[in-house]
Amino acid sequence: MIELTIDSKKITANKGETILQAALKNGIYIPNLCYDKRLIPFAGCRVCIVEIEGQRKLEASCATIAKDGMVVRTDTPKVRKARQTVLELMLVHHPLDCPICDKAGECDLQELVYKVGKPEGRFVRKRKEAPADIRGPLVELNANRCILCGKCVRICDEHQGRAALGYIGRGFPTVVQAAFGEILWCDFCGQCVDICPTGAILSKAYRFEARPFFLEEKETICPFCGVGCTLTLGIREGKILRSRGKTGTGITDGNLCGRGRFGFDYIYSKNRLNTPLIRKGGELTSASWEEALSYISNNLKSIVTNHGASSVGAIGSHRCTNEDNYILQKFMRNVIRSNNIDSSAAFGYGLVEKAWEMAFGQKGHRIDLKSPLNKDVILVIESDLSTTHPIFGLNILWAKRREGANLIVADSRETKLTRHSSKWLRIKQGTGVALLNGIMKIISDKGLFDKGKVSNITGFSSLESVLKDYSPDAVYKITGIPEEDLASVAEIYAKAKTRMVSLSIGVSENTKGLDTVLAAANLINFMGDNTDSLQIPAEYSNTFGLYQMGIRPDAGPGFIPLEKTGKGILEMLYEPDSVKALYIVGEDPVVNFPNSSKIVGRLKELNLLIVQDIALTETAKLAHVVLPASRWAEKDGSFTNAEGLMQQLHKVVNTTGQSLPDWQIIKNLSQTMGRDIGIKHLADISEEIYAHFASLQSSLSPEKRSFNPVSYIPGEKPDAEYPLSMVVRDMLYHSGSMSTRSESLDLVAPEAILEMNEEDALKLGISDNSLVKVTSKRDSVYLKAKISEAIPQGTVYVPAHFPHSRINALTHLQSHGGISLDAVKVELAKI
Ligand code: SF4
Repeated sequence: MIELTIDSKKITANKGETILQAALKNGIYIPNLCYDKRLIPFAGCRVCIVEIEGQRKLEASCATIAKDGMVVRTDTPKVRKARQTVLELMLVHHPLDCPICDKAGECDLQELVYKVGKPEGRFVRKRKEAPADIRGPLVELNANRCILCGKCVRICDEHQGRAALGYIGRGFPTVVQAAFGEILWCDFCGQCVDICPTGAILSKAYRFEARPFFLEEKETICPFCGVGCTLTLGIREGKILRSRGKTGTGITDGNLCGRGRFGFDYIYSKNRLNTPLIRKGGELTSASWEEALSYISNNLKSIVTNHGASSVGAIGSHRCTNEDNYILQKFMRNVIRSNNIDSSAAFGYGLVEKAWEMAFGQKGHRIDLKSPLNKDVILVIESDLSTTHPIFGLNILWAKRREGANLIVADSRETKLTRHSSKWLRIKQGTGVALLNGIMKIISDKGLFDKGKVSNITGFSSLESVLKDYSPDAVYKITGIPEEDLASVAEIYAKAKTRMVSLSIGVSENTKGLDTVLAAANLINFMGDNTDSLQIPAEYSNTFGLYQMGIRPDAGPGFIPLEKTGKGILEMLYEPDSVKALYIVGEDPVVNFPNSSKIVGRLKELNLLIVQDIALTETAKLAHVVLPASRWAEKDGSFTNAEGLMQQLHKVVNTTGQSLPDWQIIKNLSQTMGRDIGIKHLADISEEIYAHFASLQSSLSPEKRSFNPVSYIPGEKPDAEYPLSMVVRDMLYHSGSMSTRSESLDLVAPEAILEMNEEDALKLGISDNSLVKVTSKRDSVYLKAKISEAIPQGTVYVPAHFPHSRINALTHLQSHGGISLDAVKVELAKI
């Protein structure tokens, strides 16, 4: 620590901190425009100049390292005059078009001119006269208003790792634009919109919608991925007009990805449900709440009487709040008396939980978003974490690019992480288990682990015997990774002082499963590392929460095991006649779950299908009764993020039509069924949740490690008829199928595209935008093709988000319930 004096106040600072950083940390304001704590000091705007005792020149405080004993003055006449001159020079070029600028009222330049004092205006004004560049789908560039502080260029490159923006030209005509002045096409994270101090970069969706001072700002939690960023929503006349991240707000300190920033408008989708619907004469027709709830009550009672409680099942939702999910499981267990309840987590987070218990004897796996920081080595297995969990991905990039971590990414396709990696292991898709086993085998052979420490762990000798099959040569044949690369990665990993393995897993991916998590956990145990060396984030906004609330057939709230296990997803949705009635809340299995044709068949067989959702989903279209639920922004409650942090959601807009919060619908249904569920208000549910949460704390079991050896099992193998492997992966611009209802995100990614390698495409006569027919052993779908260098030969990549693309009509479940690669045939569609 060092000590310095700023404006007569003695403060302390860390060695290496700049004067500006030290001042801001100690509550001393120094005006600035080009500084942001996420960026490398730039000293571009010169507004933060200060006087340092003993120095003749004024210095930019953002780029001057604070020194012990330094005496700094931030507001002397000399500093003020120089600062005014700097602003005066900016205003030579910057237009005074505040009346028509969306930023007016929250423009940093406007604010500074007001604070520092009106410049004299001694220079001849020369304005840029480029028209606003509104060619891109979401972001508008107004070069005329740009002060060339470079914040947007730097956040895009240094922080986001995208480098989509750059300085075009030299001198006065310099503008910030995409390379070669092309249309800006990027991650659409919108960080440039938030960071721009003037109106040079704006959100197109928000353009001319409202003046900032007429907006009411309310905070809530993002409804998309498991990171759980805080959104600051701008609302006018009851409508959300924008979403932004504010520095210092929420667990990600104001960082947002494009889904959180632009995707909120999914709640205004056209197929929003306004009233309950009952199927009459084959058609879903509007009904009153009384009619719909009585219909459900009568039918459920009759099914339970005739077929027993075990003939009723329910599916909960990672999009619903903890309170909604809690009351759903209570309804099933206390009113229906059935433990048949599950969710999409059965294909993702549920597998992580299972592996965690098997490998470490613990429940409730949670990640630490900051875990990548200060790691020497980060090993990512077949996952594009910058896509599935963008802000977690930013921390991985930070660790690599700012802290010098060794980032090793094993993936079959090129991604942002592979581009920034220290080493890209381009493995064949779905072979992560073999790679992890191969790494352990080399570590074992070279004696790079503490055998004495880990050989007592249960299963060690079985693991050793399984690893015998994973010689570098055998691993090369499975993964395609040359022996020397595998050996070097194993050595780097084993010798690192601090290391972690990370991956994603979920219903929207088909290259990893329980075995991959077990193989990764084996590596953690093998090295004798702490369990937090394995980081697998829960997929969606409340995946962790729904699991914690007991939306699973084998445990109640707080992970407390049940005496009698109910039926899970695999039985309820894939086995004939396993249940007669299903209550599906906030989930669309027909779009999101594998082998959807089979699911459609099962749903059509049901005596009663109740779907409760915000929109008429593909699953809802098959229902006997559809109940309109409130959107995420229309209700209070909580989400629990992948860190296990319960965060409050706030009702920020009114409900639409007759829709109600999910918890209220379920409470009303149990009343209609003549059962008092013991809940009248939301607070009653919260109280019960906290009681269970307390029991979770007491149920935390001590660590009990074991090895669970796993062998590589290939997915569906390509053959002469189906010669290509199909990988299902998330897109950056979408989260499940919910975000596909967002008009803004639709502008960027409106449909599923099949990505394929150029050589495969040439052989099949396919070019960019060709309409192709994709056929698996189960079904065929039609998609547009995109030729991409990022894709390896013999493979095609597709996302499952889009209902009309029906990707899950092609996919399948393995015999043990996992989702794995599908073999497909791709041909030019005959039009
Ligand atoms: Fe944050 Fe995830 Fe929402 Fe993006 S999608 S803003 S990373 S919570």
